[in-house]
Amino acid sequence: MPELPEVETIARGLDKRVAEDMIESVWIGSRPQPLKSPAGVIARTLEGKRIARVHRAGKHIVFDLEGESRASQKKKGNRAVRGQTRLDASLRQCAQWIVHLGMTGRMVVCQPAAEIAKHTHLIAKLASGRELRFIDPRMFGKLSVHLQSGGFDPGGVEPLEVSEERFIALFRGRKTPIKSALLNQKLLRGVGNIYADESLFRAGIRPRRRAAAITREQLGKLRRAVREVLREAIALGGSSISDYVDADGEEGFFQLRHRVYGREGAPCLVCGTAIRRVVLAGRSSHYCSKCQK
Ligand SMILES: [Zn+2]
Repeated sequence: MPELPEVETIARGLDKRVAEDMIESVWIGSRPQPLKSPAGVIARTLEGKRIARVHRAGKHIVFDLEGESRASQKKKGNRAVRGQTRLDASLRQCAQWIVHLGMTGRMVVCQPAAEIAKHTHLIAKLASGRELRFIDPRMFGKLSVHLQSGGFDPGGVEPLEVSEERFIALFRGRKTPIKSALLNQKLLRGVGNIYADESLFRAGIRPRRRAAAITREQLGKLRRAVREVLREAIALGGSSISDYVDADGEEGFFQLRHRVYGREGAPCLVCGTAIRRVVLAGRSSHYCSKCQK
């Protein structure tokens, strides 16, 4: 499953390739699973809009859209009732297309002649002549639109922006293992299994330690480790596991730097002790019993 660095890489790749382009028309497949907004609403919101920017919020890809939607143009043609104009203005400012890749979702920018892959759920025709396609074999991905003012908020705190005080406060009084707390998207958004394990290793904290029992100093170290790990992974273009590729089809290389994740039984790169694996809340956790206390 793509985690924060992969989603950041994909969002950056998409921004580079489709920002400033315009969505002329949208085709949506018949499978309802990926659609978290009604198909008609997604199509009406996207069609005729300029893609102002593509960015990441948590593990979501967010397309900021500008320009009037077809729906509001039609309403104007019908000399819509007064008051509607203000609503249209807020729609104009706030329309966002939200994509969550789930386990196997991919976004591809290609020429219209490119073969349409199986499990393609959405095709947006762009004014530049290219197409933006959403493909997802397992259909855990989600497509939706956000039309409220204030912009899309996936909940939780952004780990790359969180202050030390705020970070420490997130874990205060929590009886759950620190690993589970790190994965809790209502606390920090976007930290998944790989980066939680890698961060705990760098901070020297065992995944099973109770969050509430960790000192402020260690939490400060953990915050720095989380940011360092995520930044390094983003710089390397995300981890390449299973079928993850970024918007350009390039694989990321962060897996070359994993120190504990997926290294069960292999020697710790710091002390040589065999890396252990435990299952916590159904997820594998990897750690060094000597370096992590
Ligand atoms: Zn070690």
